[in-house]
Amino acid sequence: MRIEKIAQRVKCDIASCGKTAVYTVHGGAGLARNINLCEQCARELYKELSKLFVPKSPQNVVAKAVKDASISLYEAADKKSGGRK
Ligand SMILES: [Zn+2]
Repeated sequence: MRIEKIAQRVKCDIASCGKTAVYTVHGGAGLARNINLCEQCARELYKELSKLFVPKSPQNVVAKAVKDASISLYEAADKKSGGRK
């Protein structure tokens, strides 16, 4: 799935809208079967989705990567610096 700006004149897929779509969400089956959104509806959708999907904190992402690699934070820092002390 990918989202692109479009130049073709297609209507926004939000039923109550009716404006010209600016973005299309490719589902792999052609423009008519994509989800097409105008600027305003795309922004509203983004805002609503952000309420559902809270990004992980960078600290948690680092901690998970270290855990997955089975090395300590000290070792990770040591490798990054090339073993210099
Ligand atoms: Zn719209």
